[in-house]
Amino acid sequence: MNKAVRKAVIAGNWKMNKTPAEATELINSIKALIAGKDVGGCGIIAGVPFVDLPAAAEAVKGSPIKLAAQNVHWAEKGAFTGEISAEMLKAVGAEYVIIGHSERRQYFGETDETVNKRVIAALAAGLKVILCVGELKEQRLSGITSEVVSMQVKLDLAGVTAADMANVIIAYEPVWAIGTGLTATAAQAEEVCAVIRGVLASLYDASLAQSVTIQYGGSMNAGNAAELLSMENVDGGLIGGASLKPADFVEIINAAQA
Ligand code: PEP
Repeated sequence: MNKAVRKAVIAGNWKMNKTPAEATELINSIKALIAGKDVGGCGIIAGVPFVDLPAAAEAVKGSPIKLAAQNVHWAEKGAFTGEISAEMLKAVGAEYVIIGHSERRQYFGETDETVNKRVIAALAAGLKVILCVGELKEQRLSGITSEVVSMQVKLDLAGVTAADMANVIIAYEPVWAIGTGLTATAAQAEEVCAVIRGVLASLYDASLAQSVTIQYGGSMNAGNAAELLSMENVDGGLIGGASLKPADFVEIINAAQA
């Protein structure tokens, strides 16, 4: 298996943007732009705020757009004020959940240990996972990007079975490129995505590693998507800012299919 047979997946991470009414509007705009076009070669996901899920679930009906939440707790229920369980997410239409985004690691104390617990719980509950990993600027400048990202992948996937890996997408997101306008070069993205695939081969086996969708994320936009997505090990994108602009998001979807 290789890039040609792995399905490209373009996922939007809306972060803390859009009310339910605005979410409906944004999804309707994306739907209008992809209507009548063959987008079957590309998975499309919108990662929306928790409170937008019910409205978004209604809006995506009849379209190929799937929904992701942006976090999930590992417990089934209980005294975890402010947290959301996997069952709650599924009940309001989430099929995927983004876990370990650098903003959660940076601002909300996520560690590889808690990321791993969330991954295990989400998969056990039947959610699909978009697992985010990526190095800080200082780590890249110190030449330890491969080590950092390899370690994250190993720790975050600890205990995840080969069978469950069919429901995991990995997003390589260099932290220095997220929301900064700085993009990794296509060569840099390819290099680290290939490292991640190598780690998957060592954790599981080569054929499983070839089957996993690995996205790049970090200031991907309509202008740079085609080059990034043309790389052998870059199978899609996790898109922040540009996912809030329907025309740009759909251009990225088109680039993923080319
Ligand atoms: C992200 O939030 O995952 C992201 C990649 O953001 P941006 O595209 O805005 O850099």
